[in-house]
Amino acid sequence: MTDGLGGHASAERLILLLVGAVGAGKGTQASLLSRELGLVHLASGNLFRAALAAGTPLGEAAREYMEAGALVPDEVTIAMFMEELARPAADAGAILDGFPRTVGQAKALDDTLASAGERIRRVLYIEVPTDVLVRRVAGRWICPQCGTTYHEDTDPPDIPGRCDRDGTALRQRDDDRPEVVRARLDKQVPPMLAVVEHYERAGIVDRLDGTQSIEAVTNVILASMGARAAR
Ligand code: AMP
Repeated sequence: MTDGLGGHASAERLILLLVGAVGAGKGTQASLLSRELGLVHLASGNLFRAALAAGTPLGEAAREYMEAGALVPDEVTIAMFMEELARPAADAGAILDGFPRTVGQAKALDDTLASAGERIRRVLYIEVPTDVLVRRVAGRWICPQCGTTYHEDTDPPDIPGRCDRDGTALRQRDDDRPEVVRARLDKQVPPMLAVVEHYERAGIVDRLDGTQSIEAVTNVILASMGARAAR
């Protein structure tokens, strides 16, 4: 029996795409969902860093691009994901994170998956307004002495600007400064929205309100998965 979408429902793996800007809570959701749904979490940046550290041919192919902060070519990135998807850990499915980042990558991935009889089943887009993202990231402060982290809104120190443990003056990471966070978002968000629109045309996007608590976002996702599985 088919699932009406061109695949065999029983044989088809659950391949999900998790999309969200820096500070949207993507990493947290990915690890919770991978545990709850038994899916492997495939994050492009982490996979590339691991390949680089292990000195694999893939790591070598990615090296010059990563060192330049540029996107690794699509063929290399897709080959890496297909290799990961072929492992037993991905038998039940996978959560893709950090890839595809552009519409070009999305189309190339769709074609490669289609030729293997697969497809992205759902796109989970964690939506958070830019101002909230900036506040979340730019509110982080760290103790240079002991490494304890604080957040102005959610986890402030007892004495403003001082570490609770050793009283050291707290510092902000350079790339967590508001203007730097805004610049990162300005670069990151337009291609991300284009990817979401690409999958919206296929009717497979779930827009999630990422201003809710971590638990609430996870529950909405799980409820939507359960509802779909039951159908
Ligand atoms: P990240 O940790 O996600 O910022 O990724 C670190 C590096 O990995 C990036 O600077 C790129 O060189 C590479 N990378 C991560 N995701 C992709 C992708 N979707 N396409 C191409 N290169 C990527």
